[in-house]
Amino acid sequence: MPSKRFFITGVSSGFGHAIAIAAIAAGHRVVGTVRDAAARAAFESLAADGRAAAVLLDVTDFDAIEAVVASVEADGGPVDVLVNNAGYGHEGILEESPLDEMRRQFDVNVFGVVAMMKAFVPRFRERRRGHIVNITSMGGFVTMPGIAYYCGSKFAVEGMTDVVRQELSAFGVAVTAIAPGSFRTDWAGRSMVRSPRSIAAYDDIIDPVRAARLAKSGHQLGDPAKAARVIVALAEHPSPPAHLLLGSDALSLVRAKLDALRTGIDAWEEVTRSTDG
Ligand code: NAP
Repeated sequence: MPSKRFFITGVSSGFGHAIAIAAIAAGHRVVGTVRDAAARAAFESLAADGRAAAVLLDVTDFDAIEAVVASVEADGGPVDVLVNNAGYGHEGILEESPLDEMRRQFDVNVFGVVAMMKAFVPRFRERRRGHIVNITSMGGFVTMPGIAYYCGSKFAVEGMTDVVRQELSAFGVAVTAIAPGSFRTDWAGRSMVRSPRSIAAYDDIIDPVRAARLAKSGHQLGDPAKAARVIVALAEHPSPPAHLLLGSDALSLVRAKLDALRTGIDAWEEVTRSTDG
């Protein structure tokens, strides 16, 4: 398998870091985005031969993205695989969570992903090759109280990824949405933004969810290193999937959601059909 060049957003920790390590171990080259000089130095020390290069980029700095991508390709050649990984979780009851927190959640998790795709799509389309891997979440299929903004952002990316996949398939460009379950990263720890509690009526709905998530942080079922090896192998696959769940928690929860959706659709079929004609 010839060496590929990966561009991965958010390589300072978690999935992005693990995917970079797996890609380097498999003989590939990686350009990863980081947000400070210390993270840059730490990332570049992963490979002494220059196969781990870091660029400073906040994915919400939309106007900077095109120049960063152009300079990465001018300096090191074409990128083969874009992994849109950078993202974070917002936790908070909708009524308690300011709209600005939704805007920030969508800026990073949705607009950041789309802006990165818009920088790479023309290049991949013109070259008639490339692979876009968007890290979504099982929260792009299943929902629970307290993560409306996060689920909304991941539903949006699942939907748009599926559209872009259809738009690019004629050009030989693959597009995959990866929906992980719960994995041992910094997601529920240092990275999570939690809106303060303000309405006591929600105590029984959100407090146990928040406490359980904090207690589980660091002990989640999923191993990011294993997910990373799967993702790197997909980039080498001749026919990668449109959607892939990672983790048995994601598998059972998404299956149950799809079963419930079908049951609900079937139960209301007569009403659904009644509006034709
Ligand atoms: P993580 O360890 O917190 O890593 C998040 C990465 O994203 C960090 O490198 C962070 O950089 C970067 N990042 C955050 N905001 C950014 C921004 N505005 N611009 C550039 N980089 C930014 O968590 P993770 O679990 O690996 O998260 C990676 C992706 O997986 C996210 O999209 C997350 O929603 C998704 N996911 C995670 C889980 C899970 O259970 N862990 C499950 C499903 C989906 P800094 O170090 O600079 O903050």
